[in-house]
Amino acid sequence: MSTFKAPKGTYDLIPPVSETFLAVREALAAPLRRAGYGYVETPGFESVELFARGVGESTDIVTKEMYAFTTKGGDELALRPEGTASVLRAALEANLHKAGNLPVKLWYSGSYYRYERPQKGRYRHFSQVGAEAIGAEDPALDAELIILAVDAYKSLGLRTFRLLLNSLGDKECRPVYRAALQDFLRGLDLDDDTRRRIDINPLRVLDDKREAVQKQLTGAPMMRDHLCEACKTYHEQVRELLTAAGVEFEDDPKLVRGLDYYTRTTFEFVHDGLGSQSAVGGGGRYDGLSEMIGGPELPSVGWALGVDRTVLALEAEGVELHVPASTQVFTVALGEEARRTLFGVVTELRRAGVPTDFAFGGKGLKNAMKSANRSGARYAIVAGERDLAEGGVQLKDLQSGEQAPVALGEIVAELRRKLV
Ligand code: ATP
Ligand code: MG
Repeated sequence: MSTFKAPKGTYDLIPPVSETFLAVREALAAPLRRAGYGYVETPGFESVELFARGVGESTDIVTKEMYAFTTKGGDELALRPEGTASVLRAALEANLHKAGNLPVKLWYSGSYYRYERPQKGRYRHFSQVGAEAIGAEDPALDAELIILAVDAYKSLGLRTFRLLLNSLGDKECRPVYRAALQDFLRGLDLDDDTRRRIDINPLRVLDDKREAVQKQLTGAPMMRDHLCEACKTYHEQVRELLTAAGVEFEDDPKLVRGLDYYTRTTFEFVHDGLGSQSAVGGGGRYDGLSEMIGGPELPSVGWALGVDRTVLALEAEGVELHVPASTQVFTVALGEEARRTLFGVVTELRRAGVPTDFAFGGKGLKNAMKSANRSGARYAIVAGERDLAEGGVQLKDLQSGEQAPVALGEIVAELRRKLV
């Protein structure tokens, strides 16, 4: 061990788990790529103000969890705590919304940073795959994104996740509801922090995890009973489209994203094998966000799925992903002459598309064959000076143990036939 350790709340991804991680990332993104979403990559840090406005001054993310800093040049930046604000900023900056092809559909994958209290499933550095569909108000778009997330989880073999669904209303009906909720909350016995929340972000109180608070919320007015006709119809259409696609969901009237620019559809994916860090992904519609960050009116919808927690969910269900061995051929050369010749064969095989590795470090036959077996390769090429003098190498099938001589000039073609 060195003097250093990974910082608190972080962990390293190391083979073979790192391969699972990559496979999960790819599986979460695959349905998006098939549905017309284009890849977007934004910087790991942004102006702190973008997140203050784009995530919300009153959220835990902005008040407690952000890694904000001042640069040597005096810029106020923050490591990105989430993806939506950055992606929308990038789309607006590149004028993607003006290209006449709405919605602009984008997906992303990367690292996010939150100064949280670390525990299983809750880290200070974590990974998300996300998607945003910018500039269209259409229940089919909300449904599309939810279906793509469900298909992604299913493609990984996850079975016991649940989809929670709610509508948060819009700028017509939400203010009326908000006032009714505030009236109700003001009559409760709550601590000072929570009282302050009633003024700035009352919907978030519904989300309070404490039992003493939850008990008092019985009888609280619910958004679903205050939806205007337009929001009701919209939500009903989303629900119908999900049902038609065979997607099961649970209506959860308390599911909130408590900011004014989050509107209508809101949803969360939870997995019951993860203890209290049960949310594996979430998202919703954010019709007012573009204007919050200085853009035009662009109704949009998106989600972000947590890669770390999806990997934990797979573990909890005992699902093992089929990750193909990265090495298919392992090459063992005995003696200097053979090393030179076979190192050339290794390069040739790799260039021909065959994942190949080599016994480095001048190991003896026994150790080299151990490495061959550990590599997960299907075949080993073994040759010493005498084999080469006779014009051939030994090709060993590491599964069956069978071994046969192959001419040096034939080995690449032979392995390509067998493997590519
Ligand atoms: P939570 O309620 O668990 O704090 P959140 O509402 O803050 O989640 P989002 O901002 O919606 O989470 O992020 C989407 C997904 O990213 C979450 O569902 C989760 O899977 C993952 N995620 C969020 N924060 C963390 C974290 N600190 N460590 C690991 N994964 C995280
Ligand atoms: Mg959180």
